[in-house]
Amino acid sequence: MTSSGEPLRHAVLFLVDAMRPDGLLTAKTPFLDQVLMRGVYTYRARTVMPSTTLPCHTSLFFSVPPDIHGILDNVWKSFPKPIPGLFDIIHEQGMPVASFFNWEPLRELSQPGSLAASFFIRDNPGDDGRCDRELTSMARSWLSSHEWVFSFLYLHNTDKTGHASGWMSNAYFGAIANADRCIESICSILPEDTLIIVTSDHGGHDHTHHTDAEEDMTVPLIMHGPGIPKNLELTENVSIMDIAPTIVRFLGLAKPEGWQGKEISF
Ligand SMILES: [Zn+2]
Repeated sequence: MTSSGEPLRHAVLFLVDAMRPDGLLTAKTPFLDQVLMRGVYTYRARTVMPSTTLPCHTSLFFSVPPDIHGILDNVWKSFPKPIPGLFDIIHEQGMPVASFFNWEPLRELSQPGSLAASFFIRDNPGDDGRCDRELTSMARSWLSSHEWVFSFLYLHNTDKTGHASGWMSNAYFGAIANADRCIESICSILPEDTLIIVTSDHGGHDHTHHTDAEEDMTVPLIMHGPGIPKNLELTENVSIMDIAPTIVRFLGLAKPEGWQGKEISF
């Protein structure tokens, strides 16, 4: 319960690494198709430059562009000036947060001690999505047996498959379909008051990303939960920097000073 006696809400952020909007539209994703019909969505959300995993995640979790946080490649370094992070500010309000990921640098997204649970499994080449499924199974088990308010599930296989087999290849579509089943498995055990957000950090083209090409910079965003309209395509411009402010608003918290993203309205 909150100090005002209101029951705590829940929020889960699913990040399918390197999922292009047209990849989502083409792959077999029966569960996400349903979520989309029950929520708001856009196929035109923008990520940041460089369209690279760690800079993009840092902009998502700290709601500032790379020229402010200074992470320009997949190597973590201290920020030039302190910036509050999504995990940390929720934790500081006494709300338990958890992270489930299979790409190791993402451990840097929270301060030591902020996470009630942190699960990491190393993803290996050519496992056909097994690592995503194992991580999902761990997350499902933990989330259904612990108190939590915000959780993050990161699925790496789509990016790995894009690099190995090419973006928009059949193997890439298969990886997105696998992620759809993982997300369905988690959602089946979530409380009814949960805000669900599904997005990606960047897209990709040929066998790579990192550029300012539309295919790299454009990502899907789907939101479903209490108070969110059904089957509404967002017309406003949405950035991945807007996701953290939207989550803190949903949880009844104030947007921290320094965040440059806006709360997504609908
Ligand atoms: Zn990525």
